[in-house]
Amino acid sequence: MDTVKYLLTEDRMPTSWYNIAADLPTPAPPVLHPGTKQPIGPADLAPLFPMALILQEVSTERAIAIPEEVQAIYRQWRPTPLYRARRLERALDTPAKIYYKYEGVSPAGSHKPNTAVAQAYYNKQEGVKRIVTETGAGQWGSSLAFAGALFGLEIKVYMVRVSYEQKPYRRALMEAYGATVTASPSEETASGRAILAEHPDSTGSLGIAISEAVEVAAQNDDTKYALGSVLNHVLLHQTVIGQEALAQLEMAGDYPDVVVGCTGGGSNFAGIAFPFIGAKLRGERDVRAVAVEPAACPSLTKGRYAYDFGDTAHLTPLVKMHTLGSTFVPSGFHAGGLRYHGMAPLVSHLVQLGLIEPTAYQQLDTFAAGLQFARTEGIMPAPEANHAIAGAIHEALRCKEEGVSRTILFNLCGHGHFDMQAYTDYLAGKLRDFEYSDAEVAMALAGLPSVG
Ligand SMILES: *Cc1c(COP(=O)(O)O)cnc(C)c1O
Repeated sequence: MDTVKYLLTEDRMPTSWYNIAADLPTPAPPVLHPGTKQPIGPADLAPLFPMALILQEVSTERAIAIPEEVQAIYRQWRPTPLYRARRLERALDTPAKIYYKYEGVSPAGSHKPNTAVAQAYYNKQEGVKRIVTETGAGQWGSSLAFAGALFGLEIKVYMVRVSYEQKPYRRALMEAYGATVTASPSEETASGRAILAEHPDSTGSLGIAISEAVEVAAQNDDTKYALGSVLNHVLLHQTVIGQEALAQLEMAGDYPDVVVGCTGGGSNFAGIAFPFIGAKLRGERDVRAVAVEPAACPSLTKGRYAYDFGDTAHLTPLVKMHTLGSTFVPSGFHAGGLRYHGMAPLVSHLVQLGLIEPTAYQQLDTFAAGLQFARTEGIMPAPEANHAIAGAIHEALRCKEEGVSRTILFNLCGHGHFDMQAYTDYLAGKLRDFEYSDAEVAMALAGLPSVG
C-alpha cells in the first residue's frame, strides 16, 4: 500500500480556535510585571499588542471565532493534508500506523502563517501602521511579511545575525514580500548597541532580537510588536492544525495513541496537540503528547521551571516557563527555529501537570530521521520538523519491539526548501552534535530574576 492522503473540503475548515485554558484543571501562573512582580493587566501590554490579541491572551473561553477575513485567507491553503505514511511504516517494518499533518503547503512554507495572518488582521483592525518583530531561521519573519503584504502593513524584522548570513534566501523572501530586514544585534537600538559594545562579533540570539523589536515597538505609537510563538494567543491560532487532524483521522476511522511535535517556543506542537489534550482533559479520549526539542537547546528537559524574561535586555514581562536563562546563546546547530531559551507558558504548565512528555534529540539523529522520511515520503522537511520525525520514528520502533500497533500522529510543521545548505553540510559529514552540560545550564540559570 502507498502513502494515503486525507483531504477535508473547505467547508470543514475550523471556524473557531480552540482555547485550552477553558479545560485546564488549574490555570497557568500569571504573567508578572518585571518591576512590581505583580500580575500585569491588559493595559500593561497595550503598547505592544492590539487589544483583541491581549484579550485572547487572557481568555478562558473554549472556542474563539476566527474572523471571516482570516478564514478567507486560510482557505488558500487550509485545510492542509493529512497523510498516512505507509512507505515510511514499511521502511521501519513497524506495526504502528504513522500519520502526519503537513503544514508546509502554506505560502511561507510552515505553520506560522496561521498566526501571522490573524495577528496582522487584528493589528490592521486597530489602526496599526507598522509591525516590528524578530526572526530566527526566517520562517516567522517571512510569514509575517506575507501577512503584512496582504493587509498593507509595514513589516520590520530583526533577524538573528547567524541566520541572516546563513540563510540569504529566507531574507530575500521577506524582502520580496516587502518587509525590511536588519541583522541583529544592530546599531539601530539601545539593546543592540549594548550587546555589540560587549561582543562586537555577536552572532545574535532570539532573545537579543526580541529586545530590539520590543524596544522599537514600545517607542513608536503607530508600531506594535508581534511574536511568532510562546504566547497564549499564538498557540491558540495554531489549533486549526489539531482540529483538522481530528476530523481527518475520523475520516480514516482512527484516533492517535500518541501525538508528536517539535518544540522551539511550543506553537506548532500546541497547534496539533492541544485539541487532543483537551479531549483528554474533558475525559473523552486518552492520548500521549510527546514534545521533541534539540539536545543543544533543551529548555524542557534541562531548563528550570521558573519566572524569567522573554528577552535578553529584560524589556518583557516575566513569564513562568521552562527556561535556560534569558542570556542563553545556543550553539550554532541548524534547527534555527528551535533556538529559544524559553518555552510557551502553556506548554510548560502542561509538562508540570504530567500531560506532555518532553524528550530531546541530537542534531545528527534528527537529520538521519529527516532523510529517511524524505527518501520514503518524498517531502524535504524543515530541520525543526526533523525532531518530530525522529520522535515519531522512535515511537514506531518501540511498537515494533513491543509487538503492538499504535497510531502515531506527528506535525510536519514546514518544508526544508530554504534549508538545503544544512542538508548539504550533513551529507558532507560537517555537522556535529552539541551536548549542553549541566554546568553550563547552571551558569545560564544563575541570572534568573528572583520572584517572591
Ligand atoms: C518557527 C518554527 C518552529 C519552532 O517554533 P514553534 O513555536 O515551537 O512551533 C518549528 N518548526 C518550524 C518549521 C518553524 O518555522
